[in-house]
Amino acid sequence: MRVIFLGPPGVGKGTQADFIGKNFSIQKLSTGDLLRESVDRGTTLGNEAKLFMERGELVPDKVVIGLIEEKLGSSECRNGFLLDGFPRTVTQANKLSLFLEENGEAIDRVVYFSLPQCEVIERISGRRSCPKCKAVYHLKSIPPKKEGVCNVCEMPLIQRNDDKPETIQSRLVVYQRETEPLIQYYKERGILSELDGSGGVSEVRERLVALLTQSE
Ligand code: AMP
Repeated sequence: MRVIFLGPPGVGKGTQADFIGKNFSIQKLSTGDLLRESVDRGTTLGNEAKLFMERGELVPDKVVIGLIEEKLGSSECRNGFLLDGFPRTVTQANKLSLFLEENGEAIDRVVYFSLPQCEVIERISGRRSCPKCKAVYHLKSIPPKKEGVCNVCEMPLIQRNDDKPETIQSRLVVYQRETEPLIQYYKERGILSELDGSGGVSEVRERLVALLTQSE
């Protein structure tokens, strides 16, 4: 299974991708996670990406494409992969399909998570994460057992810098301008399925599993 999760930031793609990756035994690749890891490690790539991420802008295509191609070429993706947060531009989508074509592969399905913008903003603003194990919570929908503390490592939860109100707006503008055209792009290729992203985590998960198993 080679799947792309497409949709606005904060819609819940990452939470569902973690579950599907584990339960369907396919490698989840999140460019956001990979970039944040590089930023934390202070690598050259991380330092280059940091400024763009803090401003809520996209990291240049060349950087992200290099990062993802390296992962896709590795043995961990042999059984398939699930891309979360990639591609985010038409250039990235074209490069991805060329890369896969060269290896005799193609994307099977693109799941587009749809949600009204006011709910997207509510979800991003309430998101909190553990700086150590990277577990993701939401103040209302996925609250930690003990307020403000990670269930697993008991570290104080933090809010991502780019989830703060001043950056959310620019991320949504960038999403509309750069990423939304991919909905039409994949629709034209006949591989897009729309998933209603509203409701609780388990509700969305049930719809998603039904969609993915029905298409197998
Ligand atoms: P995410 O965790 O997917 O919301 O990504 C966080 C940030 O990482 C984004 O706002 C971008 O700055 C950067 N980023 C993640 N994926 C991509 C991508 N495919 N292309 C460009 N920038 C990306």
